[in-house]
Amino acid sequence: MLEDKNQKKTSLASLGEFKLIEHLTKHFTISQESTIKGIGDDAAVLDFKEKKVVVSTDLLVEGVHFDLSYMPLKHLGYKAVVANVSDICAMNAQPTQITVSLAVSNRFPLEALEELMAGITLAASIYGVDVIGGDTTSSQKGLIISITALGEASLDEITYRNGAQVGDLLVVSGDLGAAYMGLQVLEREKQVFQVNPNNQPILDDYTYLIERQLKPEARKDVKELLEKLEIKPTAMIDISDGLSSELLHICKQSHVGCNLYEEKIPIDPQLINVCEEFSIDSTTIALNGGEDYELLFTIKMDDYDKIKHNPNFTVIGHMVAENEGTHLITRANTKIALKARGWNALEE
Ligand code: ADP
Ligand code: MG
Repeated sequence: MLEDKNQKKTSLASLGEFKLIEHLTKHFTISQESTIKGIGDDAAVLDFKEKKVVVSTDLLVEGVHFDLSYMPLKHLGYKAVVANVSDICAMNAQPTQITVSLAVSNRFPLEALEELMAGITLAASIYGVDVIGGDTTSSQKGLIISITALGEASLDEITYRNGAQVGDLLVVSGDLGAAYMGLQVLEREKQVFQVNPNNQPILDDYTYLIERQLKPEARKDVKELLEKLEIKPTAMIDISDGLSSELLHICKQSHVGCNLYEEKIPIDPQLINVCEEFSIDSTTIALNGGEDYELLFTIKMDDYDKIKHNPNFTVIGHMVAENEGTHLITRANTKIALKARGWNALEE
C-alpha cells in the first residue's frame, strides 16, 4: 500500500470545489440493499425495513490523531473507515454505510487526496459499506477527517455495554497490544531518521506490529462467528483505548465487577520480543495500548464449551459482584485493582 514518491502534484485550487468532489467521489459504488440514494443529491436516502439502525461518528485531526510522516495517506483513509466500522461491529450490528467529511489545507495536492480516497474506497469495499455522502471543505492548517458509520441489526441482536451479569465470562477476539508497540517502533525510527536521513529503517522484525498500527482491521466477522456458535453476547465494546479502560466501561455500565487473568491475555510472540527490547512489561502494553480494534464481550457461563477451543477467541476472565471490585489476577496470583489509563497515558 506504499505511496508512489514520484507522483505529480495538481493544486486543489485549480479544480474548484465541485470538480474536486466529483473527482474524489466518482469511484464509489453502491452494494447495500438499504441504500436507495447515495452521493449526488442534497441527502442520501436509506431504507432499513424492519431492521434497527445504529450510527457512530469519529473525528480525526492531523497532529492529534495521526502523523503523516509515518502514516501514508492511503493507510490513514483505510484506518479511518476501520475505526468507525469497528464501533458498529461493537454493537453486534452489520456495518452498511459511511459518510466521509474532509477539511483540507491547500498544501495537499489533488494526488494526496486521491491516495486518501483510495484507502477509504478499499476499506469500504472490503467491509461492504457504501459511501453515501460527505462534505469537502478547506482548512487553514492540516487535514481533518470525519467519518460517520451506519449499521443495521434486529433489536435482539444489538449488544450494549451494560448487559454483563455476575458469573458471565469475559472474552476477547484476536490479540492485544501490537498496534501500540507498532507505533512505538515507528516513532523510534522517525527519530533515528530525523538525526540522520541516510538511516533507512529496518523493520523486518516488526512487520506484524506495524501492520496492526498502520493497517488495522475491524472484527466484522465476530457477529457471524458468534451466530454460528449459537452464542448471544451479553455486553460488547471495541478495544480502541486499551483493554483495561474498555473493561471498566463494561463493568461500570453493567454494575458488575471483574476478575481478569494476566496469564490468559492473548499477546503475539512479536509483541513479547519487542517489549523486551524496549524494556516494557508486555501485560502493561496489552492492558493499556490502544487501537487494537478487537472486540471485548461477555457471554453466559453456559456457553463456555461452545467457545473454549475457538482460535478466534480467548476467555480472559469473568464478571463478579460490583462490590467485589475490578481486578487483574497476576501470574504470581496477586490481585491488583484495574486502572483505566488508556493509551495516551503511556506517552508520559
Ligand atoms: P451540498 O452542497 O449539499 O453540501 P456538496 O456539493 O458538498 O453538496 O456535495 C455533493 C455530493 O457529494 C453530496 O452527495 C455529498 O454528500 C457528496 N460529497 C461531498 N464531499 C464528499 C466526500 N468527501 N466523500 C463522499 N461524498 C462527498
Ligand atoms: Mg457540502
